[in-house]
Amino acid sequence: MTTSDAKQWSWQARGVEREELEVDVLIVGAGPAGLACAIDLKRRCDAAKLEKTILVLEKAEEVGYHILSGAVMDPRGMQELFPDWKERGCPIESPVVDDCLDVLLGGGRWSRLKGFLVPPTLHNHGNYIISLYRVVRWLKDEAEKLGIEVYPGFAAAEVLYDENRVIGVQTRDAGISKSGEKKATFQPGMNVKAAVTVFAEGTRGSLAKGLIERLGLGSAENPQSYGTGVKEIWELPEERAAALKGHVIHTAGMPLGLEGYGGGWIYGLSENRLSIGFVVGLDHPDAKLDPHALFVQWKQHPGVAQHLEGGKVLRYGAKTIPYGGYFAMPKLQGDGFCIVGDSAGFLNSARLKGVHLALKSGLLAAEAIAEALAKNDTSAHALSRYTALFEGSWAKAELWRVRNFHQAFHGGLVKGALDVGVQMLTGGRGLVARRKGVLDAQTTRKVAESKLTKPQFDDRASMDKLTDVYWSGSVHEEDQPSHLIVTDPTVCVTRCTEEYGNPCQHFCPAAVYEWPTEGRPTGVRINASNCVHCKTCDIADPYQVIQWVVPEGGGGPKYIDM
Ligand code: SF4
Repeated sequence: MTTSDAKQWSWQARGVEREELEVDVLIVGAGPAGLACAIDLKRRCDAAKLEKTILVLEKAEEVGYHILSGAVMDPRGMQELFPDWKERGCPIESPVVDDCLDVLLGGGRWSRLKGFLVPPTLHNHGNYIISLYRVVRWLKDEAEKLGIEVYPGFAAAEVLYDENRVIGVQTRDAGISKSGEKKATFQPGMNVKAAVTVFAEGTRGSLAKGLIERLGLGSAENPQSYGTGVKEIWELPEERAAALKGHVIHTAGMPLGLEGYGGGWIYGLSENRLSIGFVVGLDHPDAKLDPHALFVQWKQHPGVAQHLEGGKVLRYGAKTIPYGGYFAMPKLQGDGFCIVGDSAGFLNSARLKGVHLALKSGLLAAEAIAEALAKNDTSAHALSRYTALFEGSWAKAELWRVRNFHQAFHGGLVKGALDVGVQMLTGGRGLVARRKGVLDAQTTRKVAESKLTKPQFDDRASMDKLTDVYWSGSVHEEDQPSHLIVTDPTVCVTRCTEEYGNPCQHFCPAAVYEWPTEGRPTGVRINASNCVHCKTCDIADPYQVIQWVVPEGGGGPKYIDM
């Protein structure tokens, strides 16, 4: 019997006839993990003379539009996918030529740490500065050369189950009006069925979230925790851009105090461009936590502002990052499915790196799936080879060395730094063998205790959210139901207003949630078309009444060259 998950929130029409498509392996998401999985699986099937169809679905209008990363790539994963990756033309911005850590202090001062003073996890020699957009576009071309079908503009809206076995996904209906009526343009989504479905949706994937909840795949002791990164690409005067190309500057300190976990980055790209960004942990306790405001304050610190002088912004974006590490990873597979990349928490938060781990997770899943297909057995037992391969891999070894890293900072920066020092001497153990995690949504303090302030904007280097959203290129069909579902609006205007002051108006980096500034609020206005798909609201809302679901395929940001 085919069912979709009743617990999943979606706007799919019920009782309509749907086209059905059958493939052997369906990959949901054309990011680095999904495409690496598709490419390696196809090569393995071809080598074993197994005729198998592989389909990759991507919700963005074009592959790469929803991809956002710093990004400095450790080449290890790419090297395994394509030993000749450079000769093949994998686009890189620059090899890293120098790295340092700038500690931003009060009063506009800063102090630069270099060489052995930089924490080992932030050493980047041998790594490459990339545009993940460009790399993913290149991976898509490589996949298509092998005969893999990649369909952009198809958003997977629901998981299809036979009991608890995953048998595919249903794509998002198109042509439903704001009020939920079928328009003249109505087109029902397809049921795409597969022997194996690979969830490669990226951070806080909406289908992976429902799957993890339904099958109890997550860790109760260490729920996944996240940070929100806000990024801009700048064009700089030629001389300064040339001087910064290949340089990796990380920052610590301002504007965060001792309670917040996070920091900034400045990476020198090619073509006179600079990647800058700031990331903050969503376990920050302040009810007015505003990642965009912190980013603006960070840009205004003279230690950062000096790099932007005479330049102009080209692009803006925001995205969450899974910080929880090894202990927060869900079970990686089950009957008929695997979870890869950010959706499964493949990220080393101490190194601020995930691309190499995402690629590796795709490779490991591909090996397990190829073996399962050859045996005609895609049960949880057969696919558990994926976990076995991961446990024996360098990816596990790397994540094991930082298994307690992020959790150590829950007690504040000072305690965290002390524990991390002990972790470095004890192979990642630290002061406690397994530090438990906390749900980000449960860390928020009452609004009366808020200390964070808002920045002043100068409309030159310091833009407000709406101006920045323009630079994200985000567009959605306006006449469709909101893809931000508030499941209990009463809580918003009663308890949330009283206790937390409606934090959604602060933490969303795209000004989607608008609350009246005068009088007692009677409800939130949701500007869904601004949404940049970062998922912060789905994670950080203290009552967990905001559900992010996929909008019509093709909607969302256009992170070209990000
Ligand atoms: Fe991010 Fe949610 Fe705002 Fe969209 S509405 S930009 S997912 S916080």
